[in-house]
Amino acid sequence: MTDRIIPLADARVTALRMPDVSSVELPQGQVLDQRNRPLRDLRISVTDRCNFRCTYCMPKDVFDKDYKFLPHAQLLTFEEITRLARLFIAHGVEKIRLTGGEPLLRKDIERLIEMLAPLQTPAGRPVDLTLTTNGSILARKARALVQAGLKRVTVSLDALDDTVFRRMNDVDFPVRDVLSGIDAAAAAGLAPIKVNMVVQRGVNDEQIVPMARHFRGSGHILRFIEFMDVGSSNGWRLDDVVPAAEVVSRIGTEFPIDALAENYPGEVAERWRYRDGGGEIGVIASVTQAFCRNCTRARLSTDGKIYLCLFAQHGYDLRALLRAPADDLQISTAIANVWRRRADRYSEVRSEATAGLKKIEMSYIGG
Ligand code: SAM
Repeated sequence: MTDRIIPLADARVTALRMPDVSSVELPQGQVLDQRNRPLRDLRISVTDRCNFRCTYCMPKDVFDKDYKFLPHAQLLTFEEITRLARLFIAHGVEKIRLTGGEPLLRKDIERLIEMLAPLQTPAGRPVDLTLTTNGSILARKARALVQAGLKRVTVSLDALDDTVFRRMNDVDFPVRDVLSGIDAAAAAGLAPIKVNMVVQRGVNDEQIVPMARHFRGSGHILRFIEFMDVGSSNGWRLDDVVPAAEVVSRIGTEFPIDALAENYPGEVAERWRYRDGGGEIGVIASVTQAFCRNCTRARLSTDGKIYLCLFAQHGYDLRALLRAPADDLQISTAIANVWRRRADRYSEVRSEATAGLKKIEMSYIGG
């Protein structure tokens, strides 16, 4: 394959003019972006719909009955997703996370998991396939997900107090049912489960210690995420962010904890362990300690655009190539070209001014 960089806008045209090369071996190997970051993780949004209306993510006044969610024909099919996943893996992706919206709302999601689970890296290792869910229908689905080949799951839960949780999800969903989902997932073989809590000052920060107390000793890993200015509809202010260092200090005053070494270079969560053996917690300081220099993530939106940053304003249309139809080599070339040109580092240059930029909503791009 030529190393010449084809601007993506031209890739489709080039794709249409190129001879059929589908029998040619796919280009393999790591691609590096302008800041020498490899492509390692792919987040796939399988639906832009969600049954929650978390006030900080899909506020009801924006995502109301008039909101135009994507029509079915615009969604990537499972075959299209799997084909792209394979091409991303050839370029270095080792970990795939299904997300959304609420991924468990996508009809027959188990079938997609069955298609993705057997994929391997060029070195023959299984791809690390996982899924992030609000847990609302996990109790019902956990066994089928495991049978389909899912190995891990992350559950979002922002409070243990039922009143606080119902107020945050804004659809009156009880904590009890998410906890049952976590139990069912563990029983089905998805343990240890990561539980993600987004912390917003004055909204749920009083829940930091109760959440820590609840999950201590459970074997699950609770992770605290700084509230971010994703999308354009959550009214983010820096004052609403509880810095990860404050989370650690609040927990540390209740339960002695020690910092742990990274599991691997560039791990986004900073890890801590309870000194008495009660397990570990993580903090994700995406606002106060940006980790752009280690970001190896690409996001595939529900309708097949690649976004190179959670805070991106534009994506690159792979669905147009898929449906052109372009062959594997052409799509693979486009993926490599897009990644090679990447230079973003939004979180390192974030300010209250950048927070106001028109950005893609997280439910569509994939959280
Ligand atoms: N519906 C699934 C769920 O609830 O996990 C997957 C999609 S959701 C967008 C993924 C994660 O993004 C959730 O843990 C959610 O709390 C988090 N999230 C959404 N908006 C956020 C924000 N503004 N700052 C930090 N995390 C956010």
